[in-house]
Amino acid sequence: MDAIQDYHMLIDGAWVPASDGAAFDSLSPLTGAPWARIPEATEADIDRAVRAADRAGTTGPWATMTPTQRGKCLRKLGDLLAERSEALGEAETRDTGKMLKETRWQAKYIAEFFHFFAGAADKIAGEVLPIDKPDLFVFTNREPLGVVAAVVPWNSQLFLAAVKLGPALAAGNTVVLKASEHASVPMLDFGRLFDEAGFPPGVVNIVTGHEAAGKALTSHSLVARIAFTGGPNAARHIVRNSAENFAEVSLELGGKSPFIVFADADIDSAVNGCMAGIFGATGQSCVAGSRLIVQDSIADDFLDRLTKAAKAIRIGDPMDDATQMGPLCTEGQLRHIEHHVALAQEQGAKLLTGGRQPPGLGLTYYEPTILDCPRPDLTVVDTELFGPVLSVLRFKTEDEAIALANRSVHGLAAGVFTLNGARQMRVARAIRAGIVWVNTYRAVSPIAAFGGVKGSGYGRESGFQAMWDYTRPKTIWVNTSAEPVANPFVMR
Ligand code: NAD
Repeated sequence: MDAIQDYHMLIDGAWVPASDGAAFDSLSPLTGAPWARIPEATEADIDRAVRAADRAGTTGPWATMTPTQRGKCLRKLGDLLAERSEALGEAETRDTGKMLKETRWQAKYIAEFFHFFAGAADKIAGEVLPIDKPDLFVFTNREPLGVVAAVVPWNSQLFLAAVKLGPALAAGNTVVLKASEHASVPMLDFGRLFDEAGFPPGVVNIVTGHEAAGKALTSHSLVARIAFTGGPNAARHIVRNSAENFAEVSLELGGKSPFIVFADADIDSAVNGCMAGIFGATGQSCVAGSRLIVQDSIADDFLDRLTKAAKAIRIGDPMDDATQMGPLCTEGQLRHIEHHVALAQEQGAKLLTGGRQPPGLGLTYYEPTILDCPRPDLTVVDTELFGPVLSVLRFKTEDEAIALANRSVHGLAAGVFTLNGARQMRVARAIRAGIVWVNTYRAVSPIAAFGGVKGSGYGRESGFQAMWDYTRPKTIWVNTSAEPVANPFVMR
């Protein structure tokens, strides 16, 4: 057995343990055994990290670097990420159980996000205002907000960190990032690239720990913006924490995304899209297409094909490129899924396939599962399971499909499969979600905004707007008159 490796946090450019020496184990999802020791940040550690970020952004070299120079650091970071994608992907797979072929690809593609924001860094401009008063020249500067607290969950941490760090750093902010307690190693390995990329110490700090560390960070008085990705319970705490510092907040939360298949769809394509949507990443994706809504006239045939395809999925070692579906990240995840699959059946759902752990594999494996649901009010239909479990509903008319899709507290993403062009547009516009994919699923890009509505949160990540959101305009009024200020008691 490999020795357990000790990891440290990145604070003010130095790698440090927790100030009181406390640490916790990171467990391998494959064996359930500890494989890394991670510092449990104390409140004093969090305070040190936030103060370092504040100094770096106000008096350190970062504060006077030009936007073009900041962009160069981001470009180098992207280059390094692409070079090290194999090793970073491996660390992520080891810590989360996600398939290496996905984490390796993701690490490489994430370089594109840093390259996009590298190019965008010196495109942030203020404006001159056509002011309604004589002798005044009024303009705005777009300034960074200050210290950004970035809090990420365990799935796709590199991606979720990139969509926060890219725009925040391009806009001149500094960051304290809290890794997930379930998989901190990929974030700490990623942290090694910042020095090499030319970022001054303190610009990016990476801390580890549980809820208390997250609380200390997000309620710290010097934090100006919180960028959170995670579940709704933690999100409610985050919003409350922000009452302490009035930080701006963006929330990227979970979903129960509808995947609508009309009878006029390309059925092979829809089956593949549906498989990618729910069984990709073992369903542990915020945009998982976990609510199949299929037209009645093709439902039996569609489900037959889908069930056969689901049964044929090769489940196994995520390090093996032949594997198509790996384990769940934690045992807690497994229990949550088992509970809801049992409850769904008690409430009348019919299990078409799966619903159990595959024999002879590790602790947290779970079979691809399809539940045919007789009614939309079953608990499973609008509960995020974060696993490979698809619930199925049937519809007769387009209006009914839209109503079922919108019958949800969530609103992150949706898929629509139909070859009718006018219907594609109608349905895409009618669905209340932040992202709608038509005849495709799970595509992301640094150029396209990402985020939800309703219970899936607010704020957007990626795209130019995301960077804009990490700035604040300052309005500067200049009196150009040669005359002295006249009456001090009259507002101009
Ligand atoms: P989680 O909400 O339990 O934890 C997320 C992070 O918040 C962790 O780092 C955790 O330590 C921290 N945290 C927990 N309580 C906190 C508190 N009181 N104050 C501050 N920080 C706190 O989420 P998880 O179970 O690790 O991840 C799964 C969830 O993340 C799912 O709901 C999933 O849909 C969501 N998610 C959303 C997106 C998106 O972009 N919309 C992407 C991936 C995951």
